[in-house]
Amino acid sequence: MIRAEKLSKAYQGVPAVSEVDLTVPEGELCVLLGPSGCGKSTLLRLINALTPADSGTVTVRGQDISRMPPEQLRRGIGYVVPNVGLFPHYTVRRNIAVVPELLKWKKPDIIKRTAFLMELTGLPQKYLDKYPHELSGGEAQRVGVARALAADPPILLMDEPFGSVDPLNRERLQRSFLDIQRTLKKTVLFVTHDVSEALIMGDRILLMREGRIARSGTPREMVFGEGDAFR
Ligand code: ADP
Repeated sequence: MIRAEKLSKAYQGVPAVSEVDLTVPEGELCVLLGPSGCGKSTLLRLINALTPADSGTVTVRGQDISRMPPEQLRRGIGYVVPNVGLFPHYTVRRNIAVVPELLKWKKPDIIKRTAFLMELTGLPQKYLDKYPHELSGGEAQRVGVARALAADPPILLMDEPFGSVDPLNRERLQRSFLDIQRTLKKTVLFVTHDVSEALIMGDRILLMREGRIARSGTPREMVFGEGDAFR
C-alpha cells in the first residue's frame, strides 16, 4: 500500500504539489489524471524519494520512505519513466538486468528472470541482444516495463509509460499491461493526461488539478459524475 499525507512541494515558492493525501491499496491500479503541469510527475517523484518533500509524509507498505535505505526503496518500487529512459549503449538484456545486477543477483537467476520478462511483455527472446535504437517506440516501452518489473517489486510507479507510442500500439500495450496486472496484482500508481487511457486502465482515478487531488472515484463514478469531490 502507498500512502501520502499532506504532501507538499514548491519550486521557487510556487506550489507544484499542495497538501496531497492519497492511498493506493495493495493490488490496485490507481490512475493519476490531470493536465500537463498540474503536478503529477512531481507527486510520483516525491513518492519515489527522487525529490525531497517540503512537508508531509509518504509511507510504502507501512514504512516511512524518508527513513528507508535507498536500496531497500529501489528494490520495492519499479519506476517507469516517460520516453522510456533506456540506456542507449546497453543491450536490451543489460537494460532489463540493471536492478538485479545492482542487487547482486546470481547470473543464472538474472538470465532466467530476463527470459521470463521478455515472454511476459510479449517480446521475442532474440531481441535481448538488440540496442534501444534498433527498437520501435512500442518495443522500447515494453522493455521499460520489463526493466521496472525486473526485481519483482510489489509497487510500480508509471509516469506516462505509453506516452510516446502511436495509438494502435498504445492500445496493445494498455491491453497487455492489464493482462500482466491481472496476474501480478502489483500496487500501481499510473500517471496520464489522457482521459480515455485513465478510463481503460484505472481501478480508480484520482483527478489532479493545480497540485491538488480534485476528485476521485472508479472510472464509472467519474463518468457519471459521482465519486468524492475533495475540494
Ligand atoms: P505534470 O507531471 O502534471 O505535467 P509536473 O509535476 O512536471 O507536472 O510539474 C508541476 C509544476 O512544477 C510545473 O509548474 C513545473 O513547471 C514545476 N516543476 C516541476 N519540476 C520542476 C523543477 N525541477 N524545477 C522547477 N519547477 C519544476
